[in-house]
Amino acid sequence: MMTHWIQIIYLISAVLFILGIKWMNKTKAARQGNLLSALGMLLAILATLVQVQVLTLPEILGGMLVGSVIGLVIARRVEMTQIPEMVALFNGFGGLASVAVATSDYWLRQYELNQGLDAIVGPSALVSIFIGGITFTGSVVAFLKLNGRISGQPITFSGQHALNLILFLSSLLVGSMAFWSAIDPLWVLIFIILSLILGVLTVIPIGGADMPVVISLLNSYSGMAACTTGFVLNNSVLIVSGALVGASGIILTQIMCKAMNRSLVSVLLGGFGQTASGSTSDGPEIVVKEVGVEEAAMLFDAASSVIIVPGYGMAVAQAQHAIRELSELCAKRNISVKFAIHPVAGRMPGHMNVLLAEANIPYDQLIEMEEINDEFSRTDLVFVVGANDVVNPAARTNPQSPIFGMPILNADKAQTVIVSKRSMGKGYAGIENELFGYPNCLMLFGDAKQTITKVVGEMKEL
Ligand code: NAP
Repeated sequence: MMTHWIQIIYLISAVLFILGIKWMNKTKAARQGNLLSALGMLLAILATLVQVQVLTLPEILGGMLVGSVIGLVIARRVEMTQIPEMVALFNGFGGLASVAVATSDYWLRQYELNQGLDAIVGPSALVSIFIGGITFTGSVVAFLKLNGRISGQPITFSGQHALNLILFLSSLLVGSMAFWSAIDPLWVLIFIILSLILGVLTVIPIGGADMPVVISLLNSYSGMAACTTGFVLNNSVLIVSGALVGASGIILTQIMCKAMNRSLVSVLLGGFGQTASGSTSDGPEIVVKEVGVEEAAMLFDAASSVIIVPGYGMAVAQAQHAIRELSELCAKRNISVKFAIHPVAGRMPGHMNVLLAEANIPYDQLIEMEEINDEFSRTDLVFVVGANDVVNPAARTNPQSPIFGMPILNADKAQTVIVSKRSMGKGYAGIENELFGYPNCLMLFGDAKQTITKVVGEMKEL
């Protein structure tokens, strides 16, 4: 009877997870979606605690308390710009947990109870250990690359792909041996070590700039590892939630690759940073026109429609609050203000939405690329804040460009464009942006937060 109730609660949890993900799809409902998923998780945890077997309840609650406190402290300290590396660590720990659970279950059945493995538990445990191991070390390397503790440049050497293939085939061999018989436990250890090495080797050739795509892929791996662990433990909610994470991670990876005009294979083979910087110096030098804060304030004051294009530089400068002040000033003067959101602006999906929402900019002012792109040609002033690649016309015009084919925001079509950035520094793709030299484009040099604050000050004087 009890097991029936637990299965029903697991089913409710799974439905809440799915609804939560659906709601997170819409900016307005995202918070409720998050809460709904959290409720699903709470129910799943409670139902699991009821059937505690191996550890005692106080031991489990103690572990949960320590983990929750650590998580809370880290979540409070982390800056918005550090979220991608945080997600990398989360994925890594998810992978490590799968390795730990699957290994202990394998060990118990094979060496303690001498039960052997059946056709479901055996392969599931070994796949879980293998994918979990790759996810763990791969995520740690991604974390170290993103926070600059190791070089973000692709690390490559000759024979790298051949070595990866040999390690993969060796893992397959050792894994099959581990399934068919109770081999020497040393081989199980070797199997784990092989997966850990493969995790390092598959992520080091990928440039720091491609890391968000890899993190999304590793997120999918951690879901797959959790899903297979669900088969090991015969736990339906783990199977469903792992499958959801695995599937949504792979869909997100595809969306990011498409929006960046990159194939997943080319990301995984690595070396993007090198190619891009190699192809930058061609073409004539870009001559730009500068604008000062006073003149910029006057241009805002004279406009009747403004589109703001936020990019990675806005996140670096933490300029979102200054931007909200600017948009409120414009609104008071009956100037229409909209925000154009490119799907890969910033360094993670939804990066701009999160920052602008944090600054209380109304959701209905945030307009997706497909919806707003036709409006640029009818707009008086476009204000590009720390964005570069997502407004680079080379994506439309230059087949040699590494970003050729990537859909961009049509900022160049507006009557006047002001670009706020610190210098002529390049963006993620490492290429020049000819927009900055266009006759309708003016450069407002300086840190975005500082210059926008000054523009706001000037506007108040007008
Ligand atoms: P971007 O092309 O990387 O350019 C950002 C610009 O911000 C730089 O040119 C930099 O110029 C400027 N900047 C940096 N700090 C600044 C500051 N304090 N104040 C003002 N400006 C500052 O950014 P993007 O246009 O947002 O494009 C995103 C790129 O990331 C795309 O190429 C996309 O494919 C890639 N990407 C995105 C994701 C994702 O999920 N969102 C994932 C992977 C890759 P200065 O140095 O001159 O200031």
